[in-house]
Amino acid sequence: MQSGGSYGPELLGFLELLPTPAVLLRLDDGAIIWLSSSGAGLIGAEENSQVVGKSILEFVATEQHAFVTRDMHKLMQGADRVSPLVYTLQRTDGKTGSVHVESIPLVFNDTPAALSLLVDVTEREDALIALGESETRYRSLVESSPDAILVSVAGEIVYANPTAAADAARHGVTELEGCSVFEFLPSDPDHVGRLKQLYTEGGVLPWIETIVRYHDDHAFPAEIHTTLIAWHGEPAAQTVVRDISQRKAAEAEIREYQDHLQQLVDERTRGLERAMAELESMNLDLMNANAAKSSFMAAMSHELRTPLNSIIGFSAILEKGLAGELNEEQAKQIEIINAAGRQLLGLVGNVLDLERIESGRTEVITRELAPVDMAIKLVEMVRPLAENKGLHISCIPGEDLPQRLRTDQLKLEQIIMNLLANGIKYTDTGSVVLNLSAEEGWFRFTVKDTGPGVPPDQHDLIFEEFYQHSTRDNVAKPVGAGLGLAIARRLADLLGGRLWLESEEDVGSTFALELPLA
Ligand code: ADP
Repeated sequence: MQSGGSYGPELLGFLELLPTPAVLLRLDDGAIIWLSSSGAGLIGAEENSQVVGKSILEFVATEQHAFVTRDMHKLMQGADRVSPLVYTLQRTDGKTGSVHVESIPLVFNDTPAALSLLVDVTEREDALIALGESETRYRSLVESSPDAILVSVAGEIVYANPTAAADAARHGVTELEGCSVFEFLPSDPDHVGRLKQLYTEGGVLPWIETIVRYHDDHAFPAEIHTTLIAWHGEPAAQTVVRDISQRKAAEAEIREYQDHLQQLVDERTRGLERAMAELESMNLDLMNANAAKSSFMAAMSHELRTPLNSIIGFSAILEKGLAGELNEEQAKQIEIINAAGRQLLGLVGNVLDLERIESGRTEVITRELAPVDMAIKLVEMVRPLAENKGLHISCIPGEDLPQRLRTDQLKLEQIIMNLLANGIKYTDTGSVVLNLSAEEGWFRFTVKDTGPGVPPDQHDLIFEEFYQHSTRDNVAKPVGAGLGLAIARRLADLLGGRLWLESEEDVGSTFALELPLA
């Protein structure tokens, strides 16, 4: 039985004033009796007359016709209202819209009718559709993520993506949804505090490194990152859990490797330190041995000198006939004894010199000297030796020589004397010349002879102690102990200079000594 009040045309004026669009329908066939002007606008009609008389079904999506018919029937049967529904409108302009409809029965002009109040919800519905779409997009992103993602509302997990579910399943947890998120994620006050802050202030929690525990027995290192999102209209925490056990294992391996390397380095360093200590103690032994050798040599040399001087002195007395007349043979032999004594004394002197230089006991005493005068004096001293062998000897000072040279005169004379003596000793024919020159801050003395020369591979060796190069058959054997040049080079070093040889076999030798002018 139809219910509701009975109205005449005065109802229409009242309905027209309502803020909500309204429509009157005939209950038996759903024909539109009247439509408010805002209602006409809603279904895209310019005037009421365009739609009055037409069935309401023309303006409702086909799949919803059954609901319209059902509701009309309910009202016809006496229901005092039908539950409100959202209908999809088929507008006259071909567009669609969404309208929320609430209907009550009444009698209009004696005809059973339904008064339906319409609310346009097109925008809201569109928004819901868009929301649906964005949710679908969110889901598809989250579901395909290689990271585990948990969404929790008030600490309870409401969604776990497939990666999270698979991780949990691997560790014996079959259902994540409904569990407390703190069963798995850190529940320390710090983290919980940060989550609370996220809920109240929103935003994002930065990535933190932590331990995630899907099972009592299984914990793994992870980085987690939490964002506040809306989950079905409620604030929720979305936590991305990134398993970093592999990275951690790799880091641990690198650390182990580094430790191993460090160990190796430490071992090597210790080995090296041991070797250094050994070397140091060997060095000390050597220095001690050297000191012992030096004092032995010094003592021995002095011990030798005394009897040698007696041998030389007394043989000279004998030689001169001061102890009585000597026959020719005796005189010859005494001369040999005297010469051998002098040679031995020279050798002892050389050994002492070398020992003094090596032990650093040689003092350098510099003073100004006139280099040209000194050179001429030295050449004159050895002239008799040279002329005895039929050699030509001379001193050639170059042009523009400095007048003065500051050096240790005795040592300089010893070097040049040695070079001159060697030149005379090893040269059989020709000449020995002492040249003087100066250039670029250096004063140079060269002793050039026309002797046998020295093969190139021995240019440096002859400056070593006791070295005497193997002379060929046609060249006189050296007379000496191979110490003269060794001493000369060390003295040159002491004077801050250098001594070297330029020589060509069968042409001659040139020994050059350079001393600094400054
Ligand atoms: P030594 O007492 O034997 O002369 P030195 O140290 O003075 O010792 O010389 C070392 C070696 O160098 C000599 O044995 C000799 O073979 C060679 N030597 C030195 N001076 C000359 C020179 N002017 N010409 C050729 N050889 C030389």
